[in-house]
Amino acid sequence: MSSSAKPYPDTQIYVDGAWRAGAKTIPVIDPATEAEIGRLSLASENDLSDAAEAAARAFRAWRKVSAFERSKLMRRAAQLLRDRAEEVATIMTREQGKPFVESRIETLNGADTIDWFAEEARRTYGRVIPSRSEAVRQIVTREPVGPVAAFTPWNFPLNQAVRKVSAALASGCTVVLKGPEETPASCAALVQVFIDAGLPAGVLNLVFGVPAEVSSYLIAHPAIRKISFTGSTPVGKLLAAKAGEHMKRVTMELGGHAPALVFADADVPRAAKLLAGAKFRNAGQVCISPTRFLVEDAAYDEFVEHFVAATRAIKVGNGLEDGVQMGPLANDRRLAAMERIVADAREHGAKVQTGGERVGREGYFFAPTVLTDVPLSARIMQEEPFGPVAPVSRFGSYDEVIAEANRLPYGLAAYAYTRSAATSAALSDDIESGMLSINHHGLGLAETPFGGVKESGYGSEGGTEAMEAYLVTKLVTEHR
Ligand code: NAD
Repeated sequence: MSSSAKPYPDTQIYVDGAWRAGAKTIPVIDPATEAEIGRLSLASENDLSDAAEAAARAFRAWRKVSAFERSKLMRRAAQLLRDRAEEVATIMTREQGKPFVESRIETLNGADTIDWFAEEARRTYGRVIPSRSEAVRQIVTREPVGPVAAFTPWNFPLNQAVRKVSAALASGCTVVLKGPEETPASCAALVQVFIDAGLPAGVLNLVFGVPAEVSSYLIAHPAIRKISFTGSTPVGKLLAAKAGEHMKRVTMELGGHAPALVFADADVPRAAKLLAGAKFRNAGQVCISPTRFLVEDAAYDEFVEHFVAATRAIKVGNGLEDGVQMGPLANDRRLAAMERIVADAREHGAKVQTGGERVGREGYFFAPTVLTDVPLSARIMQEEPFGPVAPVSRFGSYDEVIAEANRLPYGLAAYAYTRSAATSAALSDDIESGMLSINHHGLGLAETPFGGVKESGYGSEGGTEAMEAYLVTKLVTEHR
């Protein structure tokens, strides 16, 4: 960690190639200390209008910049982000709370994401369709959809934004990004690397505001052609409905409640260790976090023993301190939510094996928590905890665990541990989710698809599929 870290910066909005103060400012809070560490400018309606119009003007030129040139610029931005990783990670930990090591990984992964989309930019191929007549030539091309309004949340302030921004820029789209108000400065640092890499004015704009007001304005704005949102399912439904009113393309990356299936034939201690690591990363505030631990009867006691031991060993503290493995929750809403869901589970008869309460009186710290004997009627078995609380349940048969895994309306991530090739193959067919990771925690790479089914949303934010979201298809048929 850098000890010569700069002070936490105030954040302005970035519109049409210039940083500007918005209509008013709000505080940014360090979740580890609850102290105000900076101020954030919020956009007025005029600022939003300027941003949308700048994105529309810039689109006319940016779409004509060759994919080769776009790609070169993006690679420069990626390198700048790598060069600034220590500084950006320090900012991120201060505003979001996650351990510095996680912030640094997020920043470096962000650079890899930009690079990957820079490469994809050069591979947006069309095709030639054999025609029915020698005189006719039929060509299919892929064109950028247009200016994009992107809405990104606070749990991965950089990573959630970089996926949308990189895919959009690579495709030739321009962007109005509404960043996360609670964690704005690392998102602004991402925008700065594109500016410093030479991105023309108006191609990428960054705004903050009252989320509902900004989304209502931007989704309805005639210049905006595509909406991309990451956040909760209820908000996603609202925004998708609004986008539907204006017939605008949509990508929705929403909530999940990921089942983690542990079969008796698995390497149980390894499964417990890997799942505890995945569960408590970013204090559980991860849309693909494993959240319902379903363990086969014969392995249950062994799993609980190892999982509880791994959970107790997690060092909780200020993310800037060396050796800390879990920081505070990112905001007071999550702390209150954890207290509510644990109290509710207790009322329903759950046993708290470890944790279950706030840590200290300052900062939004909540102990890594393991619950057992949680009935399905408890809230945590219906709603994603989005925090460091892990309910562990048992199952007796394959059919029973598949029914439980698929019971909820979500379908984002799922995990399984088994040594049986037959079980793995069956799971690949039977689990209703956009992503399934077997015997390791392997989701979220730039080159692999990332997205959900059912109420977890639609569209993909990784892999070649991510480019599709920002491209439209055009057929040109010509008689010679
Ligand atoms: P929330 O539902 O109010 O907000 C979630 C995100 O959506 C935030 O980034 C917020 O700024 C944004 N948002 C809210 N209303 C909006 C609107 N009308 N227009 C545009 N954006 C809007 O709740 P919260 O307290 O911030 O987070 C709690 C829940 O959100 C969690 O339980 C989790 O389910 C979900 N969440 C999911 C992700 C994810 O990665 N999928 C990230 C953050 C939060």
